[in-house]
Amino acid sequence: MLDAKADLWRDKRRNEIIEWDKNNKWQDFIDDGKIWSILRERKKPEASEVIEIIEKARSNTTQGTMLSPDEVAVLINTEDPELWDRIYETADWIKQTVYGNRIVLFAPLYLSNTCVNNCAYCGFRQANKELERKALNHNEVEAEVNALVNVGHKRLIAVYGEHPDSDAEYICKTVKKIYTTRMGFGEIRRCNINAAPMFNEEYRNIKQIGIGTYQIFQETYHHDTYRQVHPAGTLKESYLWRLFGLHRAMEVGIDDVGLGVLFGLYDWRFELIGLLQHAKALENEFGVGPHTISYPRLVYAENAPLATRSKYLVSDDDFIKIVAIIRLMCPYTGSILTAREAYPIRRRAIKQGGVSQMDAGTRVGVGGYAEMEKEHLPHKEQFYVKDSQSLDDFIYHLCEDGYLPSFCTAGYREGRTGENFMPLAKHATVKNLCIANGILTFKEYVLDYASDKVKKIGENKTIPLFLDWIQTHVPAIYPHVREYLKREENNTRDLHF
Ligand code: SAM
Ligand code: SF4
Repeated sequence: MLDAKADLWRDKRRNEIIEWDKNNKWQDFIDDGKIWSILRERKKPEASEVIEIIEKARSNTTQGTMLSPDEVAVLINTEDPELWDRIYETADWIKQTVYGNRIVLFAPLYLSNTCVNNCAYCGFRQANKELERKALNHNEVEAEVNALVNVGHKRLIAVYGEHPDSDAEYICKTVKKIYTTRMGFGEIRRCNINAAPMFNEEYRNIKQIGIGTYQIFQETYHHDTYRQVHPAGTLKESYLWRLFGLHRAMEVGIDDVGLGVLFGLYDWRFELIGLLQHAKALENEFGVGPHTISYPRLVYAENAPLATRSKYLVSDDDFIKIVAIIRLMCPYTGSILTAREAYPIRRRAIKQGGVSQMDAGTRVGVGGYAEMEKEHLPHKEQFYVKDSQSLDDFIYHLCEDGYLPSFCTAGYREGRTGENFMPLAKHATVKNLCIANGILTFKEYVLDYASDKVKKIGENKTIPLFLDWIQTHVPAIYPHVREYLKREENNTRDLHF
């Protein structure tokens, strides 16, 4: 049961959303029947057709264009395992071409689990009476941030339930606190947001505090399913309010936005075409597509039976296909794989799906980092993560596999966002900066936080490997990178290109 204050807040906000719906100026761009007919028309594609689309995805990579829905439907309907191997190789090639062989690391920070909604899949839903509800206060935010920066994190995604205790004003206050909390060399340099859709005025205030990407996951693009899993009477009931949530954000100047689908609510084939149409709608309206795409897959959540019983749960093999298709369809968009997935799947998806960003050392309970030694806090968390290994262990595995762990936040602070970022990503030149900044931020990690095993592999293998890459591919900045590394050894921090 909600208390009277939350009840009132929800009803007032719901009326405002209904009013917005009535006056909404945008046309729904998701036509369920049309998506299914595209998928049906492209059933059993010829091998030559699939190969042509793979080649097209490769050439799109340096031209900054996306595949069409028809082309994505061909990939979705591909069955031949050999063709799939070519798709996976291409996903990896695109990722290497745009971003280089680096993985950007971040942590989710759950600020609140108070929520007026009742989404059928989520542990924070109203119907979960066993959850200990909480919105962190200033001291608690500070404790969480200290715990994160003390293990080496520099980038966060701040996550919020939808509730008067965690409204736009609370988001502004907590993000300010996150940015101003410092410990030694530890600081958060980029704070992204995952929160409910807002009104323009609220977005304006949030933009002013200097956020990174604003993420809203549509959860499902299928209208009927959306209605079934987001009960009427809640703030999440309006499909269009959510669908155009990022349009409103971009309208007021938040230029990095992130899309996502919660895979497992409806047929993954349908959802992929929905995602593509959403990316295209943003690009058509603002000239800039999504900065990132996330593809959370349903995992167990306390008192949310749908999370494990949905008839559309996605198998591991199909999940890898989803990640790879996203990489081919939007080659310039950051691809985020979370710790909802077990480590073996994460490892496979990096290679076969061209993933570019991952969380590590993750806890999804409110206050979870202050109790880092506990893998799960069932009465405080949203769902069960399957990869709870420490940031340091995760980094070690990345190094072993030949990747560069990166904490780079330079793009956003150098103004490479929105329309300034897109040409670099679309023409595949951003990787030169990504690798250089990746080396510098990884070196900071090695100097300040790494275990002996990571120091060893970092200094002996990873840093030399990527320095060689810079020397060969971007010789003009090589001496500067070397000089910056020296300065880091002499305790200068936050050097970037
Ligand atoms: N409350 C805000 C909202 O709904 O927009 C913020 C998002 S919520 C805290 C973060 C995301 O977690 C949701 O958008 C959803 O996609 C995902 N999620 C919820 N329940 C999940 C589950 N059981 N398994 C995996 N992901 C889940
Ligand atoms: Fe609340 Fe978001 Fe969970 Fe829905 S997904 S119950 S809105 S926290």
